[in-house]
Amino acid sequence: MAGPSCTSSANPVAEGSTACSALPPGGGPVWLFDLDNTLHNASAHIFPHINRAMTAYLMTHLGLDEPAANQLRMDYWKRYGATLLGLMRHHQIDPRHFLDATHQFPELHRMVVFDRALGQMLRHLPGRKIVFSNGPQAYAQAVLRVMGVHPHFDAVWGVEQMRFHPKPLSRGFRHLLHAQRVHPARCILVEDSAENLRTAKRLGMTTVWISPSLRRPAWVDHQLRSVLQLARHGVRSHASR
Ligand SMILES: [Mg+2]
Repeated sequence: MAGPSCTSSANPVAEGSTACSALPPGGGPVWLFDLDNTLHNASAHIFPHINRAMTAYLMTHLGLDEPAANQLRMDYWKRYGATLLGLMRHHQIDPRHFLDATHQFPELHRMVVFDRALGQMLRHLPGRKIVFSNGPQAYAQAVLRVMGVHPHFDAVWGVEQMRFHPKPLSRGFRHLLHAQRVHPARCILVEDSAENLRTAKRLGMTTVWISPSLRRPAWVDHQLRSVLQLARHGVRSHASR
């Protein structure tokens, strides 16, 4: 549970206004940044590496051959938004063991693809900044260190901090809101996953989609091709409008 100040609602419209009624919405913006394919390009090297490691893990621990393991990994990713969630639900996999085994990067500094202008953009962006990643916290911290942007963030949330309720599940969001003592109307989620933004919008957050897509879902408030455009785009939280 996220805590006594947060309540859930079956009505997605009402949910935003009642999500954390005990916490006032005042104060500056709180930026929640997804990590992979938002702050850096994970598709180039890191995702293929993780995918191979996950497939190998499923082969070893579930006794599957490679095509079956690969298929199961992708099925859970599509169905739950995170392979981890399917493995926890259907196979009682130990999440810490799985995450540790699948996030080993002996050459991480060679794998992170990012724009050097990221640090400057973050420096000029007013407000609290929190990384909100479905990956393990140690991995998120390591990627931030490689990019040299870790001093710009007030907190780094991995899936362990969400108590293994990854985005797009609202429980993970509620854990963060409660622990950081922040009202959702102050939050701006910056994400490449439209599905994760849908939960954020339901909770009352402002949503920024990092995507080149020509089709923009109704719950997306702002769409940018790159996170680097954020500072000059003038994005504001609902609480500051
Ligand atoms: Mg992402």
